[in-house]
Amino acid sequence: MTVGRIVMYVFAAMLAGVTIGMLDSLPVDAPAQREVAQPQVPVMATSISVRTPPSSSAPSSSAPPSQPSSSSTTAPLALAGRDVVRPGPELPPGVAVRDQGEGWWRTVPGTTAQVGTGRVRTYSVEVEQGVVVPQAQLPFATAVDEALADPRGWTASGDVAFRRVDVAQPDVRIRLTAKETARAICGFEIPYDTSCYVNGVVYVSAPRWFRGAQSYAGDLAGYRKYLVNHEIGHFLGRGHEPCPADGAPAPVMMQQTFSVSNDALADITASAPQGAAVARDGKTCVANPWPNPGVTR
Ligand SMILES: [Zn+2]
Repeated sequence: MTVGRIVMYVFAAMLAGVTIGMLDSLPVDAPAQREVAQPQVPVMATSISVRTPPSSSAPSSSAPPSQPSSSSTTAPLALAGRDVVRPGPELPPGVAVRDQGEGWWRTVPGTTAQVGTGRVRTYSVEVEQGVVVPQAQLPFATAVDEALADPRGWTASGDVAFRRVDVAQPDVRIRLTAKETARAICGFEIPYDTSCYVNGVVYVSAPRWFRGAQSYAGDLAGYRKYLVNHEIGHFLGRGHEPCPADGAPAPVMMQQTFSVSNDALADITASAPQGAAVARDGKTCVANPWPNPGVTR
């Protein structure tokens, strides 16, 4: 091999590296900074592996968000123009989340008063070790508490009440879980990260918790409430539901992580049925985290 050819290869490799670095750094950081800027998400300061930007021109973490990608809160769902990218089942860009956990969970300390008037179901909030820094555990627990205590939640029926326990044995455990652990437990037949409910345990996929779903168009807080209420719905014996009417609030038991469109869900779940068959009827709902969205607060 000639020196000239070696130089050419090195130059080509450098070009490729720079290009990849630019692609990586462009979309990933904007929503991440939005999240980090929120005090309730002291995300993973030490336990994540953060890639060093290849170029010094990459935005630093203290820089203001240049272009909030969630300016698309004008729901792309409602639009059908050729310029609109339909939300898909892939994980949105966002903060880096550690893939591996230690495979065991620690209960977050804290209890709540009973909410609701029906049969009391106790729950614990647990975090897989090695996934987040300790400071991120309390906000996770608080978000779970709020999702279950909201008047638009499952308690609206009057049939069920919730109370968080920490030392006592719970009826259901809600576990923040590393990506690879969740994939192993929940299955990965549908090749998109997802949470699941298995035998008295809700496994909350950490990448979904910290990065949400495209169907929520940047509304991470809303997506988190959906995630908790959907999986607790399985605990309460509910199965999946399709979108009932075009433009309606998506049922909380719809697999909104993948899509709020029946046609898209039918495609995504065709090779791995998820309980209820989804008809290709063209109906598209609006993302909704609540079992009873019509209840006034
Ligand atoms: Zn489900």
